[in-house]
Amino acid sequence: MRLLVYFHAQSFPFAIDRPTHTVEEAPVTATVDLAAIRHNAGVLQERAGEADVMAIIKADAYGHGARPVARAACEAGIRHYGVARLPEGIHLREAGHKGRILVLGAPAPAQLPQYAEYNLDLTVPSADIAAAVVRHASPTAPLRVHVTVDTGMGRLGLAPDDAPAVMTRLADAPGVRLAGLWTHFATADAPGSSFAKTQLDRFREVVDAVDVDVEHVHAANTGGLLTIGTPTYEFDASLVRSGIALYGLAATPELSARLDLRPAMRLTARVTHLKTVPAGTPISYGATWEAPRRTRIATLGVGYGDGYPRRCSGHASVRIGGALCPIVGTICMDMCMVDLGPPDEAPATRVDRGDDAVLFGPAGPTVYDVAQWSDTIPYEILCGVSPRVPRRHVNCEDEAPALSSPARTAPPGG
Ligand SMILES: *Cc1c(COP(=O)(O)O)cnc(C)c1O
Repeated sequence: MRLLVYFHAQSFPFAIDRPTHTVEEAPVTATVDLAAIRHNAGVLQERAGEADVMAIIKADAYGHGARPVARAACEAGIRHYGVARLPEGIHLREAGHKGRILVLGAPAPAQLPQYAEYNLDLTVPSADIAAAVVRHASPTAPLRVHVTVDTGMGRLGLAPDDAPAVMTRLADAPGVRLAGLWTHFATADAPGSSFAKTQLDRFREVVDAVDVDVEHVHAANTGGLLTIGTPTYEFDASLVRSGIALYGLAATPELSARLDLRPAMRLTARVTHLKTVPAGTPISYGATWEAPRRTRIATLGVGYGDGYPRRCSGHASVRIGGALCPIVGTICMDMCMVDLGPPDEAPATRVDRGDDAVLFGPAGPTVYDVAQWSDTIPYEILCGVSPRVPRRHVNCEDEAPALSSPARTAPPGG
């Protein structure tokens, strides 16, 4: 396996001054395989056919690091990017990123000059934002806008009946470029959802009613691409806005299996302490768990302060010493404990202080497992990996399953 480490820095956009360990000394590390990102981008683009993939890299690229992920997606030929908020777009531009960047969230009128300054596309979700755009835009500081229509998500957007007139008004305004018309599905993750089809029908009616030129018409997210497919992106010059699949996942394992995706992130934590305890020894806050027999207990340097959900307590396992072992007792803010079993048997005999346990990733539990243990969705697990966890960006050049060697055996630099 060729494992190249070429990006060590903490990459969360708003936390660069936060104290954090270097990767070498950190008790917990999120390893992100940029080769997997490039692979997934290629798979998505192939499935999207004539449409262009818009790589959704909001929330620090779902926790993977927005700048390195944008760079990897760019290397894979992606030209469109989506973020949620203005500072996320500025963060990319300040790193020299050249692609088209759409801010999907609603803009504040006072921010409009910055959209022009940083050449960021903005979302128009209402008639009053459209009016602000018309007031602010000028041929010397043009604004590129994507009008969004609420066809059933109930979040942002114009009512379908109002969209055509707003589009015409924007098209006529000097300095305004109509870059897009889009909508967002509420239920596309559910195969066969009739509501998603209703939303698509409503959107088609809007598209047909608009009689001005627009650069891109887009509706598909990962769910739309995977469950409904072509009808969600067969518009002229369409885009497929994909986030979760870029990171190798979907809402469910069944959905992600519809494409040849590779999960990009692995979360590992070090064994920081080891002990053998007699039967009846309580472990962690609340003393809710007691050793049922003499057993070997490993303390890991990861907790809910790192984004490993406390709600996994009582359900979770980790991969350690070549086996799956349960986390026992309550997960703490910075640590949790693992039962390695009888002290003189494997896996206990194979585990030393400083060894890595896989919380999720290749050869370990999956992100889906962690999401299920904590009663949430994989998105929240990925985004939840906290800024104090160093991100280590690598390139596993060989075929999947990638990332099977422990972090500390990686060659330095690269
Ligand atoms: C987050 C988001 C996406 C990406 O969704 P995935 O399910 O991760 O593909 C697409 N469009 C909009 C408007 C979003 O907010």
